[in-house]
This record gives sequence, structure tokens and C-alpha cells, in this order.
Amino acid sequence: MSKLFVDASLQKKLASGVQLLDKHDISTQTPTNQLVFLYSPKSAFLGTAYLSEQNKGVGWFLSPKKLKLDVAYFRALFEQARQKRRAYENDSQTTAYRLFNQDGDNFGGMTIDRYGDYALFSWYNAFVYENRQTIIEAFQLVFPELIGAYEKIRFKGLDYESAHLYGQKAPDTFTILENGVAYSVFLNDGLMTGIFLDQHEVRGSLVDGLATGKRLLNMFSYTAAFSVAAAMGGATETTSVDLAKRSRELSKAHFMANDLPLENHHFVVMDVFDYFKYAKKKGLRFEVIVLDPPSFARNKKRTFSVAKDYHKLISQALELLTENGVLIASTNAANVSKAQFKKQLEKGFGEVKHTYLDFKTLPADFASNKADAQSQYLKVFTVKVEQ
Ligand code: SAH
Repeated sequence: MSKLFVDASLQKKLASGVQLLDKHDISTQTPTNQLVFLYSPKSAFLGTAYLSEQNKGVGWFLSPKKLKLDVAYFRALFEQARQKRRAYENDSQTTAYRLFNQDGDNFGGMTIDRYGDYALFSWYNAFVYENRQTIIEAFQLVFPELIGAYEKIRFKGLDYESAHLYGQKAPDTFTILENGVAYSVFLNDGLMTGIFLDQHEVRGSLVDGLATGKRLLNMFSYTAAFSVAAAMGGATETTSVDLAKRSRELSKAHFMANDLPLENHHFVVMDVFDYFKYAKKKGLRFEVIVLDPPSFARNKKRTFSVAKDYHKLISQALELLTENGVLIASTNAANVSKAQFKKQLEKGFGEVKHTYLDFKTLPADFASNKADAQSQYLKVFTVKVEQ
């Protein structure tokens, strides 16, 4: 086993509970894609980690013990993860949720989601990918009732990004349940699946009546999951806006999965900033507006980053919001802290009087590492606006 001597700053970071290793933590001479034993500058044993390049980071700390990554090790991890999620398992109204979440479940670089009777594995680096036979074997011992699985490749270097992994093949599209609402999903078409599972509590608040009797505008709507949740919760009308052409057909599939008539639900393929202009000109107004942009986007006309530009979404949305309307402002930008995000909101509100009703971060199935703020990337404020 390779020994790796770390400097005092990494030793301190690990002691604080952070598991993700950054590029500047590790000497560039260390060979990557391997398990290593870490030692302090004074040669004290610190624990086991693995090194492998990812989109973010170059490896993960795993345990203060000397580990062997065998079936028994992963089996124990999966048993703990399953135990944590009994409430989801026992809820017959929700059949899709995260089963294993990176460092929140003490093994970074991998997530596993449940979609009905199927599992979806996401590999974030070549090292977990190389260990996947052991991982799958352990997983099947702990979750024998899941009949098949798919995988997503979330690192560079392979010639595919999505594939069937084991067991039965799933239909091209099928429905899962969340808070009693049906969503149409697909497990083998690119990296997306038709729904972002980390938002299930926000959708839950819409199902529970946040938009009952109201008109809702859903900006950056992707498959309009927020609109479907709102419609099931009694919203009278929804408008979903997304730039991607395919979003319209995928949005309709979610509505149809719930037998919702489409008359009062509109799907607009347009840049949100163009839609703001259009809606203002037409005098359209909404009681609830959801804003959920990507962290960073660049198109022909402009670039948008949550860190710098979110306030523009707020100020634009205010012009379309009715008196006492509600804004749901969401971001998944890991590089923007809750405080920085709130600053963007405040800049957007300016002098407009508003009250914070609710704040949500990741739901319990997206177990996060409390010691690492980056691991709790989701931030969602619900704000009532008196204007
Ligand atoms: N709110 C969605 C997830 C949004 S993902 C949900 O809950 O499922 C971000 C979406 O923003 C993508 O579907 C992308 O097509 C869209 N998008 C990015 N830039 C945009 C723009 N300028 N105008 C409209 N949509 C945009």
C-alpha cells in the first residue's frame, strides 16, 4: 500500500471532517487512481484515502482506519446508508430517492439513486469506476429487491456516459412516485433522468398547497416538475419556461402521468430574459414565481452566473409578481454560500418589502457532510413580497 505524507494544513482539514482532497492538498508526483495510507508530517497514521481526478478535487479521505475495499466493506456502508433512509423506504407515496450520497455516506465519488425498482449509479472518477464490480456485488446483497441498474459516467476519459449495468432493463420511460405525484423518468438517455431528486421537499411544499388557487411561473423549468407538483397541489394555471426544445415534450409527459388536463398549463421554449420582457409587455402577472437557474450558463446573447447575476432574476421577477406574491429562489451552486446567495436576493429586492417564509437545503436522503459546506450545495428561499 502506498504511503502518503501530508502537510500540517491537510492534517488539520481532515481533522475538521472534510473528506474531499483538493489539488493543492496533494503533491503532483503522487500516482493517481490508487488507495493510499495517509501519514502526518510526524509519521502518525491518519487514515485511508484514495486518489483520483474528478471535476472537483483529486481524491477522497475514507476512514481513520486501515481499509481494504472489499465486498464486506461496501456492504457495511450500504447497510448503514439503507438504515438512514428507512422513512423513505416505508413511504409508499415516494418511490424515487437517493440511496447513497458521496461523503455524506462516507464514500465520496459515487452516488446511487433509486428509481422505482431500479438503481442508478453515478461514478465521479476512474477509481470508483475501476472498483465497480465489488461495489455492485455488495450493493446487490443489501438491495436484492432492486431488479436492475444503470450507470452514469461523470468523469472524462470514457467513450460513453450512460449504460445498462446489471439485471433487467427498464422501459425507455416509466413513472416513479414522489409525495404521491407521478413523474415520467428515463434511465438511459444521456446524464439526465427527467427529474432532479434533490428538490423533492420543494416540490412537496407545492403539492402541500403553497400554490393552491394560484398562477405559477416556473423559470428554467427543465421538465416542469415544479409546475406538475403545483398543479397537483391545486394551482389554477402554470407557465413553464426553458430554452431547451425538448423540455416541452418532457414536461407534458409529467402532466400526462398524472392525468392532468393541459389547457391551463403552458410550456414556453424561450430564454427566460426574453420571456420577462414578453410577459411584461403582455401585462401577465403571477402569484408564485420559481427561479431555479443553472449555476452558470452561456448562450449567444449573454452569460449568467448565480454568484454575480442572480439579483437580476429577482428584480425581473418582481415586475411580474402580484401583491403579496411568493418567490421561490433556488440555486444548486456549490461555490455560492447561503450568505452570498442571500446577498444576491437582497440586492434584487432593493427597497421592496419582503418576508422570508422558509429556507430549505438538501433533503435527508441527500446525506451531506456537515463539516464541508460545499457538500450542502442546494439553497432554496421562499419569500413573500409585499408590493
Ligand atoms: N428547475 C428545474 C431544473 C433546472 S435545470 C427542475 O426543477 O427540474 C436548468 C435548466 O435551465 C435547463 O433545463 C436549461 O435548459 C435551462 N436554461 C439555461 N439557460 C436558460 C435560459 N437563459 N433561459 C431559459 N432556460 C435556460
